[in-house]
Amino acid sequence: MEKRHIERRLDQMRAEGTEFRTGADVGGAIDIEILRASVDVLVLACGATSWRDLNVPGRELRGVHQAMEYLPIANKVQEGDFSDAAIDAKDKNVVIIGGGDTGADCLGTSLRQGARQVIQLEIMPRPPEDRAAGNPWPQYSMVYRVSSAHEEGGERVYSVNTERFLDDGNGNVRALLVHEVEMRNGRFEKVEGTDREIPADLVFLAMGFVGPEKGSWLDQLGVAFDERGNVARDDDYQTNVPGVFVAGDMGRGQSLIVWAIAEGRACAAGVDTHLMGSTTLPSPIPPTARPLV
Ligand SMILES: Cc1cc2nc3c(=O)[nH]c(=O)nc-3n(C[C@H](O)[C@H](O)[C@H](O)COP(=O)(O)OP(=O)(O)OC[C@H]3O[C@@H](n4cnc5c(N)ncnc54)[C@H](O)[C@@H]3O)c2cc1C
Repeated sequence: MEKRHIERRLDQMRAEGTEFRTGADVGGAIDIEILRASVDVLVLACGATSWRDLNVPGRELRGVHQAMEYLPIANKVQEGDFSDAAIDAKDKNVVIIGGGDTGADCLGTSLRQGARQVIQLEIMPRPPEDRAAGNPWPQYSMVYRVSSAHEEGGERVYSVNTERFLDDGNGNVRALLVHEVEMRNGRFEKVEGTDREIPADLVFLAMGFVGPEKGSWLDQLGVAFDERGNVARDDDYQTNVPGVFVAGDMGRGQSLIVWAIAEGRACAAGVDTHLMGSTTLPSPIPPTARPLV
């Protein structure tokens, strides 16, 4: 999305009275107990960026990074902020493990940094061009998609699993040893005889997220978690701690922007009811709403 759209909305919110304080690390420089005591209501909306890892031999090699160690800093560089050590894909052979949106962001960023080659690996099979019979409207259509990042280049490889990262002899990654997989009895199984190496100087792990980052400040606050490790809430988005609400990925788990927007609006209605006894604000979705699958 063009940044001017974000800026326009921020200007509107400022004009309406919202005060934004950036660089405010809650649980770090900002003590959670002091913050909680200074407001009537606290809404937690810290996202769900606790990442899934790939614990195979060679994971410790230099050049193997999590996507979120790469993307946020690459964004800051784009804005002229060089305060963090950025990873540069220029002239590198890049392999991305994970075929989702985060992987696509790694692919687009690597291409624009001038990577020599970018390959994105996905363990699932390549989706069909058209809807399968068992995937009718209004379900989300599980079809092969070309995102704006993919339009710019790179190669996507499906039904492939990474067995290990290979060393160049100096502690740097030089390649991935991969093999093809097939789904048998609900499990991915190796297709024997398909071992091959893919050269790599840089590897990005983009394999999904397992929930919110569990800083000790959350324990200090005393919020409960659900069975998936997300911050638990009631029908009004309120946590077990009175006056503390949660919206977006932090309560739902890693999801999509449209859900976070809908949750933010519904949470605002919950907060209004909590403070005023009733509300006229719209509440687009309950916290339990899920996409049709
Ligand atoms: C790499 C990546 C690519 C994605 N691509 C897409 C896509 O293409 N389409 C799509 O719909 N969705 C995409 N998503 C998902 C989407 O970004 C999220 O679903 C959405 O942003 C969730 O909004 P949120 O407000 O709940 O959390 P976030 O947008 O994650 O915002 C959380 C904010 O809280 C801040 N924060 C965290 N901890 C603290 C703290 N202790 N103190 C102060 N601030 C804190 C963070 O810095 C962040 O700014 C992507 C997600 C990722 C990570």
